[in-house]
Amino acid sequence: MIRKSVYRRFILYFMMFGMCIITLFLYLISQSEKPILENSIRDAVVFQQKHIFSVLQRFSFSATHVVNTLVNSHEINNYLADRKETNLLPVNNLMKNIISIDPSFYRAELLDQDNQVLLSLYRREQSLQNDHSLKGTHREYIPRLSSKMSHHIWFSEIISSHSLFSGSNFFHMLYASYPLYTNQQYSGSVVFYFDIDTLLNFLTGDDSLDIYITDQKGKILFSSDQMDSISQGEAKFFQSTFGISDIRSEQQLKLKGFSFMPLGTLYSGQGLMLFCRASSEFLREKSDWYNAVVVEIFVIVIIFSFCFGIIIAIGPSRTVDKLKTVSKEKNTYMRLLDQYVPVFETDRYGVITRCNQAFCLLSQYSESELTGKLSTVLNFNKSDSSIAHIKSVLEAGLPWQGEVHYISKRGKEFWLFSTVIPIYGERRELQGYMSISTDKTDKKQLEVMVEIDSLTEIHNRAKLNKCLSQEYERMKRYGTTCSVIMIDVDFFKQVNDNYGHFIGDKVLYQLAIVLNQSTRMVDDVGRWGGEEFMIVCPETALNDAVVLAEKIRMKVATHHFPDAGRLTVSLGVEEMNPEQSLQSILEKADYYLYEAKNNGRNCVMSRVEHHQDSA
Ligand code: GH3
Ligand code: MG
Ligand code: MG
Repeated sequence: MIRKSVYRRFILYFMMFGMCIITLFLYLISQSEKPILENSIRDAVVFQQKHIFSVLQRFSFSATHVVNTLVNSHEINNYLADRKETNLLPVNNLMKNIISIDPSFYRAELLDQDNQVLLSLYRREQSLQNDHSLKGTHREYIPRLSSKMSHHIWFSEIISSHSLFSGSNFFHMLYASYPLYTNQQYSGSVVFYFDIDTLLNFLTGDDSLDIYITDQKGKILFSSDQMDSISQGEAKFFQSTFGISDIRSEQQLKLKGFSFMPLGTLYSGQGLMLFCRASSEFLREKSDWYNAVVVEIFVIVIIFSFCFGIIIAIGPSRTVDKLKTVSKEKNTYMRLLDQYVPVFETDRYGVITRCNQAFCLLSQYSESELTGKLSTVLNFNKSDSSIAHIKSVLEAGLPWQGEVHYISKRGKEFWLFSTVIPIYGERRELQGYMSISTDKTDKKQLEVMVEIDSLTEIHNRAKLNKCLSQEYERMKRYGTTCSVIMIDVDFFKQVNDNYGHFIGDKVLYQLAIVLNQSTRMVDDVGRWGGEEFMIVCPETALNDAVVLAEKIRMKVATHHFPDAGRLTVSLGVEEMNPEQSLQSILEKADYYLYEAKNNGRNCVMSRVEHHQDSA
């Protein structure tokens, strides 16, 4: 589960990274694509321009060659020397042969010095025929070539076939004439008419470019998109078609994506202009290519990022697994800690800020009830001098360890063995304290139980000894007073004998209650052994102790024991003094008790003179 999410996250990160790379890459491509595209268009244009230029030159060269072949032939020379009809026939045949070579030869004519047609040949449906009807017609559009010896071929403009031959099909044509001389006198010319549509088709047959050939004024003579209007002989201008005011303005042309090249002149009066730009098909192809590249890169990046994501995620996924195990263990420990180890935190002034479940359970308060309270609110004895001691240790910056006696919300006492440590902030400033404890209540209760007599439920002899030693020490050290009263039940054996041991025990239990009720809180009442009891009376001088003893004697003597009726006790009293050992003091008390027995029982005996039995 965890592993899956790690893999998913890594794959996602890598894919996002891949996407960023793609975006950057596409941005760079888009930045460099434009110049690349422009370069490739420019290359195509330059190539096309050179191609067109060379084709035109070849055409011009081959036309010149054909004309030269004719004018230098002896058939022409014979005819020029003697203009007989019979000499015209060989010329006619020769011209026929020459123009049959190339289908672009549309017509050939022989003119005299006044541009009157002497011979006219034309192509009709593959075959060549003489057009006798034109014989003698005047060719006004052919300039009278120089009477000076000139051996230059003259080319016309590109014109529509309709403008010269109204009955013919429409096509673009061009005618060329060459002067003939007899005895260095101008004696006529030969005129060739070329159908140049095939040629122009060939020139503009590049799919990747839109090509427009215009004359000097911008009139479109031919275009690669084969405009209908042009093929029908209508005049269409490059400027109006593309919204350009000046066809020689490079800036305007560039805006429309055109580049321009003069094609030179086929004859001295006319130059052709060539305009090229990338065709929409070419641009679409480029954009298709671009899109294909983008898709390819996209797919590659996705596949690679997927694979990389998986490979890179292996290590972290294992680490996450380990961390998960560790965190599970930690949570278990924390839960155990929370449930079984009482912990609470306070601020630096001892106000509880947090406590755990175990502490709440012991204190019987909820966390919200404890939060904000002073931690001492739980202490059993709030005036305990140990609180001051704990404070002084902690304020010295030291940890404190020890037993603390607490009281719960419902008054139940509990003891904790606590370790209190100071908590410091990031800048080593004291933030508060943390108390981590173990519950010592059971042990403490056991300890108390050890000091309790199981029959009478008052202090036993061990506790009485402890108490006697403490008081003896206090007396010696601080000069306080303390008296001891020894009590023995009179004729108790008879109780046992008369009512049995069980009743005897019951009577001892009831007597302990009477003794407890007859004394002050600070007096320690205990069972010394058998049917003997002792009362340790701190801060009590002998006289007062004798008064107390008498009070007790009276109380017992007047008490009605439900199972045994009346009972009496004998009492011996002695006051502690530093000159005597504790042992001898106890012996003294015992002695006076013995005296009381001897004195007839049910009386108090001590050093005091007036120890008379009141009975
Ligand atoms: P006295 O002290 O007045 O001289 O007479 P006594 O009968 O009390 O004297 P003694 O010391 O001889 O007897 C004490 C009796 O107390 C003996 C014993 O059976 C009884 N006794 C001592 N401990 C217990 C006890 O725990 N339970 C009961 N039921 N009897 C006890
Ligand atoms: Mg006794
Ligand atoms: Mg007795």
